[in-house]
Parts: sequence; structure tokens; C-alpha cells
Amino acid sequence: MLKRLLLLVLLMQIGGVHALDIVRQDDDLSLGRHVDYLADPTSRLDLTQALAQSGWQRGQKTDLNFGYTRSSYWFRLNLHNSDQESLQRLLEIAYPVLNHIDVWVLERAQVLHVYHMGDALPFAARPYQHRNFVIPVQVQAGQTLQVVLRIHTASAMQVPLTLWSETRFHQHDQTDLLLLGIYYGVVICMLIYNLFLFFSLRELSGLYYVVWVGGMLMFMMSLNGIAYQYLWPRASSWNNSALVFFLSLSVLFATLFTREFLQIAQARQTWMLRVLHQMALLSGLSVVSAFVLPYRYGIHLSIGIAVIAIMSSFVAASLRWRDGFATARYYVFAWSFVMIGGAILAANKLGVIERNLFTENATQVGSAMEVLLLSFALGERVNVERKLREQAQRDAFDAQRQANAQLEQQVELRTQALQEANRRLTEISVTDPLTGIPNRRHFDQRYLDEIKRAQRSGQHIGLLVIDIDHFKQVNDRYGHQSGDEALRFIAHTLQKHVRRDIDLVARFGGEEFCVLLPCVKEHGLAIVAEHLRRAVDDAVIELASHSLHITISLGGSTCIPSGVRDAEELLAAADTAVYAAKHGGRNAYRFQPIRKAVE
Ligand code: GH3
Ligand code: MG
Ligand code: MG
Repeated sequence: MLKRLLLLVLLMQIGGVHALDIVRQDDDLSLGRHVDYLADPTSRLDLTQALAQSGWQRGQKTDLNFGYTRSSYWFRLNLHNSDQESLQRLLEIAYPVLNHIDVWVLERAQVLHVYHMGDALPFAARPYQHRNFVIPVQVQAGQTLQVVLRIHTASAMQVPLTLWSETRFHQHDQTDLLLLGIYYGVVICMLIYNLFLFFSLRELSGLYYVVWVGGMLMFMMSLNGIAYQYLWPRASSWNNSALVFFLSLSVLFATLFTREFLQIAQARQTWMLRVLHQMALLSGLSVVSAFVLPYRYGIHLSIGIAVIAIMSSFVAASLRWRDGFATARYYVFAWSFVMIGGAILAANKLGVIERNLFTENATQVGSAMEVLLLSFALGERVNVERKLREQAQRDAFDAQRQANAQLEQQVELRTQALQEANRRLTEISVTDPLTGIPNRRHFDQRYLDEIKRAQRSGQHIGLLVIDIDHFKQVNDRYGHQSGDEALRFIAHTLQKHVRRDIDLVARFGGEEFCVLLPCVKEHGLAIVAEHLRRAVDDAVIELASHSLHITISLGGSTCIPSGVRDAEELLAAADTAVYAAKHGGRNAYRFQPIRKAVE
């Protein structure tokens, strides 16, 4: 014990600091409070000069964070192995974007190892192939080593130093990698899913989402050192620009996404659109600045824009939600996760809460939640729009169907009216206007039809021709008006006394009528004729000023027609019979058999 103490005092004199007993210490020790540091504003000091400086100071906090600085920083740490065996330790700097790290491992002012690494050097230069900077230190039994680091970087001078045993390091690394894997898995899945969704739906917001999340993914990968390890291990100058480039790109597209997703153009507050456009413009410039401005300015610019863009998007989303745009609430929740994650990280960086697994992964959990929620919201929006579209289609279809039904109804009504008009026209065309009974045209049609039917069925068809007696005198004596009246009376009397439905009474012309009697032979014809003659003879026609007595002469004929020519013969025979009746003294009926046509 005494020996050890003596050795310790001796070592403290050599190195100027106490030696950390790596056997007694926890083997995943944060070294912030165990390290001495020295600022080198000129960046000109070499190892010997630096160690000889008097300005060395003991670290005050767990995290060594000096912000953005042009100075180089020196760190030194003494490690003592009080054990009987040689021990292997890993010194990790868990901030992969540091540009230049020079490492010296010394024993009693003798340099044992020198390493140069940093993201400004090829990945392969690292002594330990890992996304973070890992320096293997072998300490022999009883040996005390001094590790000196010199860091020069354009990024923030954050130096989270941890001393690990190899076993603990690998355990920790596995968990870390698993968490990173889950995070990248979620983000990449959402990316691919939304990319396909964009290909099929062609929704602009989907494309913005994909580029934004893609940019964020690449930014995170660059920040975690994964991109440098696996994607561009030799492109050292690009790695710094990549941070600014992908951060700005994702802010640009997040802004565009916000504008589309929240439908800011429809918002009542017109300033929102202006702010978002300015944010888009600024982040667009910032994308370019990644290749033009030195990293130091570029990263400040892009972080500043990102913070303002996130806050203004959040305010815009909240206002849109308040205005009744329901989908905005997903956006508010999603960004809340990011902001909570950011706040936890900031609280950790400011020293309010200690660094642990949760604080380390808060931003990633936040952004993964955001990516998931917004992807869901995009799907939801597509769903809502599809429902609206379907409703619109249904409405259009209903309207169409209604219009068709109305049209059909109208057509139906018109058709009925037309049919009625047609029927009326046909009726008019076959009705005698004076008497209202069928006219000559109607008679001619029916007559031919009945002749053919009788021919087919081999049955008789009877025909009566009727002529009013001395009708000229009626006209002469009582006037044409009275003549018409008398004509109407005779017509109705004839119709009334012809009983069968198949019989037809028609006005043949002038004061002549004819009666078509299917299936009636000579005898039956005589009965009908006599019946009609008597009906007229018995009637007294009451005119306005006087009454009138009128008689008719009838001629009849019947046959079983053997061809249409018999129609003429039958009519001629009946006509002849009328003349015979006239000659016989009128008010009489005569029969005349037909003169059979020579076939
Ligand atoms: P009969 O047949 O007995 O030999 O003598 P009639 O006087 O009837 O002879 P005719 O056939 O020569 O005369 C027919 C008359 O019927 C001539 C015309 O004045 C009259 N007449 C024909 N059509 C109409 C009509 O539509 N209205 C009126 N009021 N008279 C008509
Ligand atoms: Mg006549
Ligand atoms: Mg006459």
C-alpha cells in the first residue's frame, strides 16, 4: 500500500496529474472529471511544449464540451494497472464528427504509440474499426501509462470520453447497435413504404415526406458515424459537408411537406405561407452553403434554420388545428415527440440531467415516433380523401340516376301523349266527322280484312248497302242543316240496331251507308235488313222546328269469298240490289246474289 502510494506521488510529479487505477475503477467510466485539459488557441504547440504548459485544468463535469472553437484542445490522462496481470482497456470518444484527433500513449515520457484519426482522415486510419473513435490501451501489470489527446475540429468540441473493459464495451455496443438498427429500420421502412405510396398515389406531400425523412436518415447516419464507416469511408472532406447538406435538405423538404400536409395555402393566416416559403428559401440556400461555406458557419446556419423551421411549423400546425383542420393534430403530436426528444437532449447537454441510455436515444425515439405518426397521418389523409372521392362519385351517380329516371319519366309521358295523339289521329282519319261513325276508309280496310278472313275460314260474309230515300228533297225542303241532322240520326239508328261487335256500320258517302256482317248468310241478312228498315221507318226525327219521317232502301248480298276480287263483286251485287229496291218503290230490301268472278 505504501509502495503504491509512493509510486502514485512519483507519477503525479511526472505527469502533473494523478493516475487512475484502472483495476479499482468501474470499467465503463466517464472520464470527464478524471482528465486534465489545455486550450491551445494558436494550435501551434507540439507534444513536449503542450505537456510543459502551465495552463492545464481538471475537468469539472462528466461531459467535456467546449462548443464551437478555433482552438485545439489537449487532454491527458494517467492510467495505472495495480493488478498482477496485463489489462486491455478501450478509450472511446463517442462523438464521430471530430475532425482531427492525435493520440500519444507514453510511459515515463517515452512515446509507445501514436495514432491519428478523425473524420478528416480515411476511416481505415483508425486503430479500432468503429463508428466512434476507440483507442486500445494495453497496460502491463504495475505499469502507469499517460494518454495524451490533441483534438482540432470545426465541429463542436465535444469529447465524451469513456474508459471501457473490452467485455463491457462490446455489451454496450451491442445494445447501442440494436437501438440504432431499430431506429434505422423503422425510418427506412417508412421511407420505402411512402415511396411506393407516392408512386401509386402521386401525392406531392408523399414525395416531400420521402425526401425529408431520407435527408433526416442520412443526417443521423452521418452524425452517428455509421455513414462514414459504411457509406463513404474514404470521402473525409465530404463527411462534414454531409451533415450540413442533409440537415438543410431535410429541413427544406419538411417545410414543403408542412405546407402541403397542413394545406397552409387554405389557411386564414396568410403570414404562415410567407414564413414557410422563407424557411424553404433559407434552407434551400443552406443546402448550397454545405458546399460553399466553411463547416463552422454552415452548421450554425443550418441548425438555426432548423430550429426556427420546427418552431414555426409547430405554431402553424397548432393554429391549423385550432381552425378546425383535423389532420393537423397528427402533425402537432408528431412534432411534439421531436421537441420533447430535443428538449431532453438539450437538458442533458446543459447538464440538467445526466447522460444515460434514455437521454442518448431521446431524439431518435422522438423522430422515429414522428416519422411513424406522420406516415400514418398521410395514409389517413389518403383514406379521408378517398372516402370523399367515393362519396362524390356516389353523389354524381345518384344525380345521374335521378336525371335518367326523370328523363325516362318524361319520355314515357311524351310517348303516352304521342300515342294518344296518334290514336286520336287514326281515329279521326277513320271516322266520319259528320256522323261520328266509321268512314269509307275504315270500311275499305275492314272489308278487305273480313273478305280474307272469310276466305280462309270458308264462311259467309254479308254486306248491306243502304241509301236514304228522297234525301235531296229533305235538303231542299228543310235546308242542309236539317239534312245533316237527319243523316246523324239515321247513322245512330243503324248503329244501335246492329248488335254484334264484329258487325260494322260505316258511312259510305253522301247519304249512303253500308253494313258489313261477317258469318251472315242470305237469310240472316234479310232479317237484319228488315230490322233496320223498320227501325228507321218507325222513327220520327225531331228537328228544331218540325219532325221528320224518313225511309231507307237496302240492297244485300252474301258469299263465301274465293279471292279478293269477290269483294268488288259483293259490293256491286249489293249496289244492284239497292237500285232494285229503289225501283221497287223504296223503303224496301232486295237481295242480289253475286256474279261469281271467272277464276
Ligand atoms: P233517291 O235516292 O230516293 O233516288 O233520291 P235522292 O234524293 O236521295 O237522290 P240522290 O242520290 O240523287 O240525292 C242524294 C242527295 O243527298 C244529294 C245531296 O243533296 C244529299 N246529300 C249527300 N250528302 C249530303 C250531306 O252530307 N249532307 C246533306 N245535308 N245532304 C247530303
Ligand atoms: Mg244516293
Ligand atoms: Mg238517296
